Amino acid sequence: MSNDDLIRHLVDIKALKNQDIINAFKLVDRKDFVSKEFSKYAYIDEPLPIGRGQTISQPFTIANMIEALEPNKGQKILEIGTGSGYQTAILSKIIKSGKIVTIEIDPILYEKAKEKLKDYKNVIQIIGDGSIGYKTEAPYDRIIVSCESPSLQKEFVEQLKNGGIIVIPIGKELWKFVKNGKLKKKYLGLYSFVPMRGEKGYR
Ligand code: SAH
Repeated sequence: MSNDDLIRHLVDIKALKNQDIINAFKLVDRKDFVSKEFSKYAYIDEPLPIGRGQTISQPFTIANMIEALEPNKGQKILEIGTGSGYQTAILSKIIKSGKIVTIEIDPILYEKAKEKLKDYKNVIQIIGDGSIGYKTEAPYDRIIVSCESPSLQKEFVEQLKNGGIIVIPIGKELWKFVKNGKLKKKYLGLYSFVPMRGEKGYR
C-alpha cells in the first residue's frame, strides 16, 4: 500500500472528485503525519490515534470536508483543530499563494504539528481556543472545523467573508453553510469527530 493507493481508493469511492484537490492529496504523504507505531496503517482509510486522546481524521472524512469547502488558490482559510496537521498540509497545497490559519488547543499536539508543518510557508499556526474562531486574522474565505461543535458559533459567521463557506460538524451531523447576505445550509451526513473543547465547546 502506498499514498497513491489511498488516493485512488478515495477517488474510486467518489469521496475525491476535484482534480486540484486530488493533486494536493497526492502531494502530502499521510505517513508523515501518523505516529510511528501506526505507520503501517497510514494508507488505510481509517482514523488513527495521534496521542492526547485525539485522532488523525479518516481520509474519507477529510476528503468529503475539503470537497464541500470548495477551497481555491489565493484564499485565506481558518482551520479549527490542527491535530496532526495532515489536513492543514493538504489545504496548504490547494491555496498556494493564500494563507491557512490553523488553531490547536492542545500544546503538545501544537508543537508536534509545528515540526511537521515547518516547510509549509503559507501556514500560520496558532495555539489557543478556536471555539470562538480567530479574530486577529479575520475575515476568512473559508472556515473548516475539525472537532465536533455543540452549535454554529456566531463568531464563525462574523469572521467569514460574504460569499464564504463554513464546513462544521454540529453534534454528529456535518453541515455546510454558505454566507450570501444570509446563511444557506446543506446537510452533508453523519460523521464522528472528537469533541470541541474551550469556551464555546463542550467544556
Ligand atoms: N484534521 C485533524 C483532526 C484532528 S482531531 C487531523 O486529521 O489530524 C481535532 C483536533 O481539534 C484535536 O487535535 C483537538 O485537540 C482540537 N481541538 C479541540 N477543541 C479545540 C478548540 N476549542 N480549539 C482548537 N482546537 C481544538
